[in-house]
Amino acid sequence: MISQDLLEILRCPLSPSNARLRLANDHLECERCALRFLIKDGFPILVIEEAALPAGCECISQLPCQREEKPKNENAEVK
Ligand SMILES: [Zn+2]
Repeated sequence: MISQDLLEILRCPLSPSNARLRLANDHLECERCALRFLIKDGFPILVIEEAALPAGCECISQLPCQREEKPKNENAEVK
């Protein structure tokens, strides 16, 4: 489904420099924050909004993976 070569280069979009993904049945899982990314038609959907949060986690901001180098001016809107 997902080749090992592809798996080698995929990273968690929350922490692309640190967190690798591992293949878990029908989805990819971040080794660091445990976000689960669906695989659709053989392609992993590495979109935060589409990812499933790990059990017990209600918000992405609780995860160990964070977009640390994200510029402040990108989206200052706060819920
Ligand atoms: Zn992660």
